Amino acid sequence: MTLTIVSHPLVQHKLTLMREKSTDNALFRRTLREISFLLAYEVTKDLALTSREIETPLEKGAFPWLEGRRICFVSILRAGNGLLEGMLDLIPDARVGHIGLYRDHETLKPVQYYLKLPEAIGEREVIVVDPMLATGNSSVAALTLLKTAGAKRLKFMCLLAAPEGVRTLEKAHPDVPVFTAAIDRQLNEIGYILPGLGDAGDRIYGTA
Ligand code: URA
Repeated sequence: MTLTIVSHPLVQHKLTLMREKSTDNALFRRTLREISFLLAYEVTKDLALTSREIETPLEKGAFPWLEGRRICFVSILRAGNGLLEGMLDLIPDARVGHIGLYRDHETLKPVQYYLKLPEAIGEREVIVVDPMLATGNSSVAALTLLKTAGAKRLKFMCLLAAPEGVRTLEKAHPDVPVFTAAIDRQLNEIGYILPGLGDAGDRIYGTA
């Protein structure tokens, strides 16, 4: 698996702001939007370029242009949605898919309750987003689901990862590159990342 830790100072600074418990929902959301823009910049840095003939006000010429392969972001509900806005600021015409998963209390396995993907997923560059790679179970389930739906080019982008989640993802989907701003120390007994930033969904939506 390729694991990229985005160590850019702006990303690291903003992540510290998001960890801080006194950061309120509005600032948390805004900072997540900014950081997701920066992470998306990194995740898309290998997009293929072709060239396009255009006319500047002075001359005709051929200039770099993104190849036709279409981009799709897939958000794992609900916290994944917090990463979408910044990514759509960067690539406004990307398609967006959503996957809803909950954890069955008895089996502790993720169960799908929602799935909506754009057509021709197999022809797209698919970037799956979830701020927290904790146990890795829902990310693994989401990637499996996308592969079953025909996706071939997949990347996974998160804000924070636990070593346990990285290992789980690597075992199940070694072909999927992972991008994160940091890998924290460990999970606690109920699956929260330590030191972490708390419950990302609650901090985005003010539901704690
Ligand atoms: N999901 C969260 O929102 N936070 C964690 O620390 C782990 C999973």
